[in-house]
Amino acid sequence: MNYGIISDIHSNFTALQVVLEFLKGKNVDKIINCGDIVGYGPQPNECIKVLSQLNNVSSVIGNHDWAVAYNDKERFNNIALEAINWTQKQLTLDNYDYISSLEKTNKEDMFIFVHGSPRVPLSEYIFGEVQAAGSFKCMSKDICFIGHTHTPICFECTKKKKIKTLDVCKDFQVKLDMGKKYIINVGSVGQPRDGDPRASVCTFDTEKMLCTFYRLEYDIESTQGKILELGLPGFLSHRLERGV
Ligand code: ZN
Repeated sequence: MNYGIISDIHSNFTALQVVLEFLKGKNVDKIINCGDIVGYGPQPNECIKVLSQLNNVSSVIGNHDWAVAYNDKERFNNIALEAINWTQKQLTLDNYDYISSLEKTNKEDMFIFVHGSPRVPLSEYIFGEVQAAGSFKCMSKDICFIGHTHTPICFECTKKKKIKTLDVCKDFQVKLDMGKKYIINVGSVGQPRDGDPRASVCTFDTEKMLCTFYRLEYDIESTQGKILELGLPGFLSHRLERGV
């Protein structure tokens, strides 16, 4: 099975289209989406619609999707909140239904996937090995794909519970060993924050046990133009070109 794995689209339809086209070229059997289809960006309806019309996409709910769907907006800064409020006014009923139907945890034969962490699926950030250690104990399978920090990274846990961080930006490919556990952050399609503004996406070939990380150029200025045109906070536009 060949998977395409994405996360944190954040209503950036221009970036999503480039990523979906790329995955088509890679002949993936299925697309896994680790949450936050909406929030921050200018085209929430377009993003949900294209994912809901593909019959090979499996998603989980992210914290921004949750805030929009359930009007639960406590833990957001003002800028995020403004975009969430705006998104709530834009979404069609069908698209509300779609994000409301998503679970916090989902799985395939070989892995689970969540937005934040296996320990607290909706909202915990895994920035480093300490948080990863807490989550390795909570996994029903040996591999978990996540998003939420918008930074691609891979944590490996040996049988002796030794945790190592693998720099996926440098290595681009990670061969997964049977008997070890992995938490793999695939980065963000629509708002990368690791200093590289290109859209992030990963593929997972389960026969070769190989994860490959890619960065794709998209028309950042087009998304920025839409953000400003719609009156969303200017910071959400500026950060895209710097990837922060
Ligand atoms: Zn996010």
